[in-house]
Amino acid sequence: MILETRAIAPFFKNGFVVGCEETREAILIDPGDEVDDLLAAVRTHQLTIRYILLTHAHLDHITGVGIAKKALGAPVGLHKEDLFLYESVVQQGQMFGIPVDPQPDVDFFYDGSGPWRFGRYGAWVYHTPGHCPGGVCLAVGRESEPERLLFVGDTLFAGSIGRVDLPGGDLQVLLNSIRSVLFSFPDDTVVYPGHGEATTVGVEKRTNPFLT
Ligand SMILES: [Zn+2]
Ligand SMILES: [Zn+2]
Repeated sequence: MILETRAIAPFFKNGFVVGCEETREAILIDPGDEVDDLLAAVRTHQLTIRYILLTHAHLDHITGVGIAKKALGAPVGLHKEDLFLYESVVQQGQMFGIPVDPQPDVDFFYDGSGPWRFGRYGAWVYHTPGHCPGGVCLAVGRESEPERLLFVGDTLFAGSIGRVDLPGGDLQVLLNSIRSVLFSFPDDTVVYPGHGEATTVGVEKRTNPFLT
């Protein structure tokens, strides 16, 4: 598997390129302000992006969608319960005092778990609301093998959990998503949060102060 992570100021939100080393097909996850760095990684690895997949629609996770879609021609996927956030990206920017361009239309909503395939790999979608209504976890791995990497957006962080004070946030719903969905994966499953360092399901089960 090819995996590239990029993050830049002001939000230091992680954007990801995940690719199949055999077929050079790939997906782009959550392109934000670091989109130019993600596109450079796509070119370096000579990848063809099949899908632009969004974990949720807070502005830091979507400000690069327009540039990515124009450069790559790939369709954009989102959970339909986050469409209201996606469509209000300009107003989200105003909340932070940041000018943000409107983003292009979403091309498809996640309807069931997928997978959305790229080469020998797939991305399976699990609805994990709580940080926002349409938050999802993308479980990525080879179709022929059980191991998955979890791209969890802002649902779970290394040693912390997502904020619940934004529109549609709910602490009990968030905790239930983490425990019933994310913690159902094996303890050695690697978790890539939307901000900060990677962790594992087992480490967070044992040491995360919001969950122990
Ligand atoms: Zn968020
Ligand atoms: Zn974020």
